[in-house]
Amino acid sequence: MIIADRKPFEEIKAMVAPFNRILVLGCGTCVTVDFSGGEKQVGILAAELRMARQLEGKPLETVEYTVQRQCEWEFIDPIAEMVRGVDAVLSMACGVGVQAMAERYPDKIILPALNTVMMGMPIEAGVFVERCAGCGNCVLAITGGICPIARCSKNLLNGPCGGSQNGKCEVNPEIECAWQLIYEKLKSMGRLDVLLEIVEPKDWRPAGGGGPRKILREEVMIEKVEV
Ligand code: SF4
Ligand code: SF4
Repeated sequence: MIIADRKPFEEIKAMVAPFNRILVLGCGTCVTVDFSGGEKQVGILAAELRMARQLEGKPLETVEYTVQRQCEWEFIDPIAEMVRGVDAVLSMACGVGVQAMAERYPDKIILPALNTVMMGMPIEAGVFVERCAGCGNCVLAITGGICPIARCSKNLLNGPCGGSQNGKCEVNPEIECAWQLIYEKLKSMGRLDVLLEIVEPKDWRPAGGGGPRKILREEVMIEKVEV
């Protein structure tokens, strides 16, 4: 899932300072699961903003709503009237959701309340970790299912850098060395021979080095479109 984090309150307050009536818009998918931008967080942020503005003597009116997914037209088209009725929308979606709103409602000011951080997963309650960097050419088959792009600080593809200490990464001793993990995993599976294959330098174009990426699935297109 996409993991995001709420921006500092003062930054959000400054963004909405020029407006009298805003829509605080949550997203019911990834950011609900990671507790950054779901219905509950919408209610908390809206209340915080109203209280802060009340104390400043410039009351703020908030409309609160959460759609299933802000990154799909079918979920944001039905809220057109709600969007029309406010000065600005404070989106609590990831950056994709914010951009979908900005694209669908080009005359409306759409503001991001979250910082989109990574693609990851919860490993225990309240702990989210990065697992994929969307490199466009997955190598997990040869790394024991452990990603050296997202989890090795140097994105190494042919083994460790040599700086790890006691299984920890030399760049950040608080994280585990991805290549130590890969080695141990492959060893436990009796697959260490996989590491003898030299991996060629990575083609970073599928990772975004060739510009913004898109995927076309002609079999599900209603009509062929230029994007
Ligand atoms: S190798 Fe690439 S696609 Fe596969 S998990 Fe890592 S970043 Fe994601
Ligand atoms: S110590 Fe391990 S995880 Fe850190 S940069 Fe070196 S190989 Fe990558």
